[in-house]
Amino acid sequence: TTQKVDPKDPQATSLGYVDDTKQADKKRFPKHEPAQMCSNCQFYQTASEKNKIAPCTIFANKGVAAGGWCSAWAKKA
Ligand code: SF4
Repeated sequence: TTQKVDPKDPQATSLGYVDDTKQADKKRFPKHEPAQMCSNCQFYQTASEKNKIAPCTIFANKGVAAGGWCSAWAKKA
């Protein structure tokens, strides 16, 4: 099984990763929008649309939440 990213680990903290995009820090990331989430980010590696957690290439393929977010978010092409 995929190891989940701990939102408190140093890389997660530095990128502002949260398990719920609504919890993103608005002050640090004023360009954040609630529609941005891991499930529509190009770095989210979905094996199945049903997966709630999938590997993220930015986090060395540790698991991130479908509804999560971090400041490396980039729209899936
Ligand atoms: Fe989620 Fe994308 Fe950040 Fe990975 S890079 S944690 S998929 S928003």
